[in-house]
Amino acid sequence: MIGAGPAGLFGARELALHGARVVLINRDIKPGGLAEYGIYPDKHTMKEGLRKQFHQVLDNEDITYYGNVRVGAQGDLTLADLRALGFQAILVTAGAQGTKWLGLPGEELRGVYHAKDVVYHYNKLPPFGERKFYFGKRCAIIGAGNVMVDISRFLIREMKVDEIVSIVRRGPAEVNFTREEMKHIIANLDINAFEAELRRVLPALQAVGEGSDVGREKVLGALPKADPKFADTRFRFEFLTSPVAMLGENGILTKLEVEDNILVSKDGQLKSQGTGRKRTLDVDTVIFAIGDKVEPSVGLPVKSNEFIKNTAPRYPIEGLSYEAFDPATNAPIPDVFVGGWSRQASEGLVGLARKDGTNAAKAVLEYLQGLPSVQPDLQAVADRMHGLQKPIITKSVLKKLEAVEEAEAVRLGIPEFKFATNEEMLQAIELAEPIH
Ligand SMILES: Cc1cc2nc3c(=O)[nH]c(=O)nc-3n(C[C@H](O)[C@H](O)[C@H](O)COP(=O)(O)OP(=O)(O)OC[C@H]3O[C@@H](n4cnc5c(N)ncnc54)[C@H](O)[C@@H]3O)c2cc1C
Repeated sequence: MIGAGPAGLFGARELALHGARVVLINRDIKPGGLAEYGIYPDKHTMKEGLRKQFHQVLDNEDITYYGNVRVGAQGDLTLADLRALGFQAILVTAGAQGTKWLGLPGEELRGVYHAKDVVYHYNKLPPFGERKFYFGKRCAIIGAGNVMVDISRFLIREMKVDEIVSIVRRGPAEVNFTREEMKHIIANLDINAFEAELRRVLPALQAVGEGSDVGREKVLGALPKADPKFADTRFRFEFLTSPVAMLGENGILTKLEVEDNILVSKDGQLKSQGTGRKRTLDVDTVIFAIGDKVEPSVGLPVKSNEFIKNTAPRYPIEGLSYEAFDPATNAPIPDVFVGGWSRQASEGLVGLARKDGTNAAKAVLEYLQGLPSVQPDLQAVADRMHGLQKPIITKSVLKKLEAVEEAEAVRLGIPEFKFATNEEMLQAIELAEPIH
């Protein structure tokens, strides 16, 4: 299995519980994927609960863990290497690690970022934890989902920025965050600006038979459970607005150019359509929170942000295909399966990734049933991993690291302590007493 996020871990569990011998290979030192490095840092109870479940999975003796190992063309091992080691099936649960840009002018300017990088930064995923980000005082976030809310939360609480504007392509009714998340930042909403914005876009909403009540409720519904205000940041929305270009001076972002949209009904759905009317907003940070795409360097064919799947699956589970497909041969790649965000990028919460990883494993189990049972040469796998000329993280090494971080949290009197670099983690492991 490639990737030890929620999909990989629960997929591994499903496979091991049904008699398969699993080797879980993970790019990061620690398991958990976005559950560890995406979920907002102060959701300690949720994160701790998930970590406990992940530990239980890894305690299964039929699962071997190798962390700090990247699979892919620029990685430590390729899919071909894994086949050569005798694995009968490969399940890719590597998440959606690619960066989805809109291809607009100015994306290279200092101050323009992709949401995932920012999220990885404040969650201390190496090397993003240490990377320098230039968050200014006036920030625009492209998108209106839970990730936009999480990043706003960070910009309010940690960076104490002056202003955040969420740029929303469609109308207020199409915002895509939940009340549970919005409650964390709603205290910073400039209500007067929000009402003024609803009035501004009302004619365009009315033109497609919409009003502003649904959108108002979606946003203000979070007010009764609002978190206290952490900073004076002014948060506002710009609806029916799309980014067109980032403008800068000397390589540094200074403005965001946007275009006003109208809504049009197309194939039974409301879509945005540019009006050609453009204006600029003074900003020093733009963050694109528009979803992710899979990373082709893993070694699988990709089309529009996703690994290509076999549309006529041999082993459908709940009607879905978990099978990788190669358009060059016009055939499924027989031994390769995909699950979690590697099957459908940016789709759903941990619970869904868990279900999807489990279902992907079910498809793999069906495939394995048709193959002869073989004894895996785990020593050959271990030799290959340890021959990679880099520190390889096994389950026992992981336990040492966790013990050091827990002790550090206790010493500092904080709920959680994380090293932000691989070097610090590896040094801490070296210095720690072996755990028996
Ligand atoms: C900002 C943000 C906030 C979120 N907040 C919540 C929340 O509050 N509650 C909630 O339930 N869900 C939340 N989610 C969603 C949740 O994190 C995801 O649904 C889930 O983590 C997806 O699981 P996955 O296993 O498919 O992928 P990931 O979690 O991305 O895991 C992928 C794993 O694959 C590994 N990997 C990647 N590439 C390679 C490679 N080439 N070789 C080897 N290993 C590789 C990575 O190291 C990682 O461990 C949030 C997501 C984001 C982005």
